[in-house]
Amino acid sequence: MNKYESIIGLEVHAQLLTKTKAFCSCSTVFGASPNTNTCPICLGFPGTLPVLNKELVRDIIKVGIATNCKIRPVSSFARKNYFYADLVKGYQITQFDDPICYDGHIDIEISDDERKKIGITRIHMEEDTGKGIHDLDIDSLMDYNRSGVPLIEIVSEPDMRSAKDAYNYLIELRRILVYLGVCTGNMEEGALRCDANVSVRLMGSKEFGTKTEIKNMNSFRNVEKAIDFEIARQIDLLEKGEAVVQETRMWDGQKQITRTMRTKETSVNYRYFTEPDLIKVNVSDEMINDIAKQIPELPSKRKERFIKEYGLPKYDASVLVESQDVAQYYEDVCSVLTAKNEHNYKLVSNWIMTEVMHILSERSITIKDLNLPPNLVAELIELFSNDVISSRVAKDIFPEVVKDGISPKKIVEERGLAQVSDTQSIENIVKKLIEENPESVEKFKNGKKNIVGFFVGNTMKQMNGKANPKVITEIVNKYLSN
Ligand code: ADP
Ligand code: ZN
Ligand code: MG
Repeated sequence: MNKYESIIGLEVHAQLLTKTKAFCSCSTVFGASPNTNTCPICLGFPGTLPVLNKELVRDIIKVGIATNCKIRPVSSFARKNYFYADLVKGYQITQFDDPICYDGHIDIEISDDERKKIGITRIHMEEDTGKGIHDLDIDSLMDYNRSGVPLIEIVSEPDMRSAKDAYNYLIELRRILVYLGVCTGNMEEGALRCDANVSVRLMGSKEFGTKTEIKNMNSFRNVEKAIDFEIARQIDLLEKGEAVVQETRMWDGQKQITRTMRTKETSVNYRYFTEPDLIKVNVSDEMINDIAKQIPELPSKRKERFIKEYGLPKYDASVLVESQDVAQYYEDVCSVLTAKNEHNYKLVSNWIMTEVMHILSERSITIKDLNLPPNLVAELIELFSNDVISSRVAKDIFPEVVKDGISPKKIVEERGLAQVSDTQSIENIVKKLIEENPESVEKFKNGKKNIVGFFVGNTMKQMNGKANPKVITEIVNKYLSN
């Protein structure tokens, strides 16, 4: 048994995909020229008044419902006061003691058949800050396009016990946010940011140890690495009889270590007080019910359903549900097959996970961009699964089906691609190959059974890929064994 146990709680910031900023009507579009998406409100001019973006409220309620949170009927905004060049007003508008969502949880997968509940303490609304431009080696350049972009902060309970738990929690949370369509989930671009709180304690101890907070991890893998590093560092300190200092540390990706950034500030330093320029946020039951209706089936549920309904292996189900559009596409193809009383759903999953996804990644497009009618894929699967064409032919004609939207059936008919299951012609080729390759036959007799592949491959080649591989293999085995 391990001597120490690690405790982890995550604070995740998600940038919402609302069209306009949290408190003004400036655009949130990414990549605009510096300071073009700004106005007196998000530049913090005195005398201007913020107006709450309703889309932001709807989005956070969506996230709250999807993460099993309670939704507060009345909540308020607060000012978090501090000075930094990226914060024009000298305070950030956020929520403090009455966050709109609280007391929720999500389930994470910790192994193939084990799930674990991770509590969500609160989810609140806030605004993003501006951004210093460091590329030019001039720190004083500021871009305020991001100032006022809506964020939600999702604070977890200290329920995670390993870096892997934290990784899985983050993956699940991202999936939910992306499914809800409220965030791109892109950590590398900063649309999803995560601070990790880490402490260790002796196994069996009831009290938590002193925690540190780690920032600056810009990928899922870095979160895992940084937490693992930090756990080891803290255990090392305790083993040496030293104390863990409560502080904020940053992940140094280059050196692969965490290092001190600043010692911990407490909420007192921020002099939080109620934002006087905004009215309270009222949420009616009617609004909650209305939003609940728009929430799609969430990825974990959908995954379970895929396993049950289509008999898919867990792996396939997870890959397919990763993107809502891919999952939908899979279901669309399957429903065409079901209507024809075909049920080879695993073949559809294979096809999408390999052939389709290959094209998507090659062209860096989404399945929607591919614009391929699901019935064409269903038709191809049908031909292949009923042995009308070989997998080779299916793969060969697929690019044309994608490109020109031509029916696979038509291509197969016009070019005579239907595979030959007629054993006589296959037998003739196999017999001839065996005569011509006595040394290979000898190898087979001496126990080299994989030589079968040589004969099958060559037979297939001579039949221009149009023979049924199962039939060829049977015939080759029959002749070699005689
Ligand atoms: P702070 O006052 O430092 O902001 P909070 O109590 O608000 O701390 O918690 C912030 C985050 O730290 C939460 O995600 C929480 O689950 C986590 N956390 C709190 N205490 C610990 C601890 N001892 N070890 C690890 N994580 C912790
Ligand atoms: Zn603005
Ligand atoms: Mg806190």
